[in-house]
Amino acid sequence: MSDPSNAMTRRTFVTNAIVLPALAGLLLAETATADAKGSQAQFKYQNTPKNGQKCSTCTQFIPGSSPTKNGSCKVVDGSISPNGWCIAYAPKKS
Ligand code: SF4
Repeated sequence: MSDPSNAMTRRTFVTNAIVLPALAGLLLAETATADAKGSQAQFKYQNTPKNGQKCSTCTQFIPGSSPTKNGSCKVVDGSISPNGWCIAYAPKKS
């Protein structure tokens, strides 16, 4: 005959053995996603300004070697024009 307190302990152990690693995996996946940049297509990047908004005035822009050279972006992958634009545009605070 099984002891009910042992059954509860076994159930708790099995639940923790299954659920906790799954939660850890979800957290790691979320972290990896947060660190990865999106593609230019995902962010609808274009090489021209839109409504006066452009990468050189965006907080996410990382300038190139000169103001007219392409730089990079903290959220969008690839070479980014200072005159480009995407849907993640966030103006620098003045
Ligand atoms: S978030 Fe978009 S608008 Fe801002 S710098 Fe990156 S590509 Fe340009």
